[in-house]
Amino acid sequence: MRKGKIIVVSAPSGTGKSTIINKILDSGEFDLHFSVSATNRQPRQGEEPGVSYHFMSTEDFRQAIVNGDFVEWEQVYPGRYYGTLKSEISKKCAAGHNLVLDIDVKGALNVKKIYGGDAKTIFIKPPSIEALQKRLEHRGTEAPEIIAERVGRAEYELSLAPEFDTVIVNDDLDTAVENTRREIGKFLGTMA
Ligand code: ADP
Ligand code: 5GP
Repeated sequence: MRKGKIIVVSAPSGTGKSTIINKILDSGEFDLHFSVSATNRQPRQGEEPGVSYHFMSTEDFRQAIVNGDFVEWEQVYPGRYYGTLKSEISKKCAAGHNLVLDIDVKGALNVKKIYGGDAKTIFIKPPSIEALQKRLEHRGTEAPEIIAERVGRAEYELSLAPEFDTVIVNDDLDTAVENTRREIGKFLGTMA
């Protein structure tokens, strides 16, 4: 059986990457499955354990690092850890499904190093830092100091965009979804 391929999507927090990924997943195209990461952050309202993330205590996350359970992991914000579990990739890719990873810029570039041509990296850019800040405020899921921390990291994240296979600007949402869909289709060989 054919092994699945990996699509890695990164963006500064608040750009709209989850919105874009969910629209593509909901369309049912591409036999695409979501890679559920592990994190020690608290669930947001509406997030389901095992669906949005595998939520772990800091102690369990550290133990998983020691056990070698992660393909990659990063401390994306001070004290907050995120990682892609080996089991997540091996289960889904071995079954022939394609996987979409929503992970930070460093994690994305590490996954590309590991999987090479079996992975495609897509960077989603906000139209501006001001728009990013407004989207985070409008989403209303983080406290003002967390929003400041996320906006503060955006410049560093944007500086790594040229290292990705493809960069897509999320200004008009429908256009960004269509462009992302087309890039995924080209990579998976289902579109000209
Ligand atoms: P991320 O996953 O990148 O952190 P989200 O997908 O949660 O971001 O989007 C952040 C907020 O911005 C959400 O409230 C979402 O509805 C909104 N949003 C997404 N795309 C756009 C867009 N093109 N224009 C305006 N708002 C958007
Ligand atoms: P959030 O807390 O908004 O869900 O995610 C914060 C950041 O962590 C986002 O940039 C998201 O892509 C990243 N992230 C989520 N899962 C992983 C992961 O498994 N590994 C890495 N390196 N980053 C992740």
